[in-house]
Parts: sequence; structure tokens; C-alpha cells
Amino acid sequence: MAVKFGRYRWLGYMIVVLTMVVIGIPALLVRGCSWESREPVKEDGVQVKLQISEKEIISLPLEQYLIGVVAAEMPVSFHEEALKAQAVAARTYSLLRMVREKEDDQHPDAHLCADPGHCQAWISNEEMRKRWGWNYRPNYQKISSAVLATGGKVLTHEGQLIDPVYHSSCGGRGTEDAREVWGHEVLYLKSVACTYDSPEKQKPVNTQMSLQELFTQLKISDQSIPVAAGSDLMEIQERTGSGRVKRVKVGSQVFSGVELRKRLGLRSTDFKVVCTGEKVLFSTRGYGHAVGMCQYGANGLAQRGAKYDQILSHYYQGTELKTIPDK
Ligand SMILES: [Zn+2]
Ligand SMILES: [Zn+2]
Repeated sequence: MAVKFGRYRWLGYMIVVLTMVVIGIPALLVRGCSWESREPVKEDGVQVKLQISEKEIISLPLEQYLIGVVAAEMPVSFHEEALKAQAVAARTYSLLRMVREKEDDQHPDAHLCADPGHCQAWISNEEMRKRWGWNYRPNYQKISSAVLATGGKVLTHEGQLIDPVYHSSCGGRGTEDAREVWGHEVLYLKSVACTYDSPEKQKPVNTQMSLQELFTQLKISDQSIPVAAGSDLMEIQERTGSGRVKRVKVGSQVFSGVELRKRLGLRSTDFKVVCTGEKVLFSTRGYGHAVGMCQYGANGLAQRGAKYDQILSHYYQGTELKTIPDK
């Protein structure tokens, strides 16, 4: 009897172990892999059609898509209130594109693409895993919390969704008036003070290029430049209200600051220039077109105690935060 009972007990242990192997481990694996999808992201709300490559369009819930946008557009190390402000800007932009296609009609079958040069940047969960490694889970949760905390919130001006443009850093000079960059007035995209960028971001960055490189990129013939032009080669003729370069003369040609930045690939239009012999030295501050929300400034404001709605109303003056209906 005793031996028989011992056999049954052994069998009992085997059954327990097998149950753990067959059910327990897969269950743990599933838990480990699917925790993102257990986040309370609405699956039945607005669906975004997103062009992720030349041939591939995916469909995903708006709030899920926004996690990928905030992850791609703002450093995850930023303050949660800055991430929330970014989430609202991203949601507003997405819905704007869903109700009004871009005029160039680059992706007629998708609402948005993942190209930051056209719509807004977006990365998949796999890409986040690659970028963040062991920090994937806390980082993902930080960003998804920012998106969820602002669920359905958008920015409006006179009842319409705004075009919430943003840039990396104004360099501490304050933001730029949209008219100076795009030539037309936008009431909520006026120049506002911003001294909140980190000290590191307010430092000038130097870029040097040869005269030949300058002429090539500006498509000007060096024949038209007097040999003895020297330090008079470039002359900043006018600055915008915020102090950025509005008009600059190179030899006998005049360029707008925006055009010069584009052609030379400068970090911003907030620059000083020195010509010495065969070289031209640009000293720029900030990064980006400087219109709308300054991302580093938003982080600085958040670190000083500002909430996301205060950050947004600072950079997009005269706008209102509204909540879109669920469906
Ligand atoms: Zn696009
Ligand atoms: Zn700034």
C-alpha cells in the first residue's frame, strides 16, 4: 500500500509539473508579450489609416497611433506634462489631416504617413523596443500614460482644429511668427517669449563651409562675387521681430533667411555669419523653423510646474482645449 501510495504521489507531482509547463509558461509568455495591448486604449474609436512605407498602409486606433507619434517626436526623458502637450498637438494634427487632406495628395489612400517631413513621425512598438532596449516597458508606459491622460483632447481656434506646428528648440529667443516663415498670418501662431529651453540648447552651434560649397548650394556663380569681397561677402540686411534673419545679401543676390536656411541646411534662421578668406562660419541658435510649440521650451515650462494645458495656451495663443466625442 505504502509503495502504491508513493507512486500516486509521484504521479501527482508529475501532473502538477506538466500543468505548469503546458499552461503556466505559455500564459506567462503571453502576459509578457501582450501587456501593451492590455493598456486601456480604445479599440472601437477613430481608426487611422497610416502609410508606413511606399507600399504598406496599416489601420490602427487613433490613441494607439498617438503613442507611436509621441515616442517618435519627443524625447521620452521629457517631463510628463510636456509629453501630454505633445500628445494633444499630435492628436489635433492627426484629426486635422483626417478631415482635411493635404493639398499635395501624396497618399490618397491613407490619412497620414510616418514621414516627419510630410505628416508627423511615427514608430512601431518593435522600433521602440529596438531604441529603448531594457527601458522599453517603463518608457512605453510613460508615453501611453501621457496619451491616455489627454484622451480625446484637441486644440481649437474659433471652433476649428488648429494646425499645431512645433519645432525642436527656439534657442531661447522666443518663437517665430508664422508669417515670417510661410508668408501668411496665422492668428494662433504668433511670436511668444520662450526662455525655458535648457542652457545646453541655448548655446550657439558653429557650422563651417567653404566659399565654393556656399556658392554651389546657393547656385550663384563665383564670377559675380568680387575677389576682394572678403568679410563683406554676406550682409544680414534685416531681422524679423523675434530677431532672426529675414533678409541676407550674398554678393549681389538677396535671399530670405528661410530660403538660405533651406539651401544650406542650417539648423535655424537665428544665425550670425563671419566670412574669413575661403571659409564661411555660421553660428546658429535653436533648431527648426521656430513656429508654434518649442519642444525644449515645453519641457522647461513643465519642469517649472506648468501643466500641459498651460504649455499649449502659451505657444498657441488664443486657442481652446476641447474634447472630441468618443465616436
Ligand atoms: Zn504624409
Ligand atoms: Zn524655446
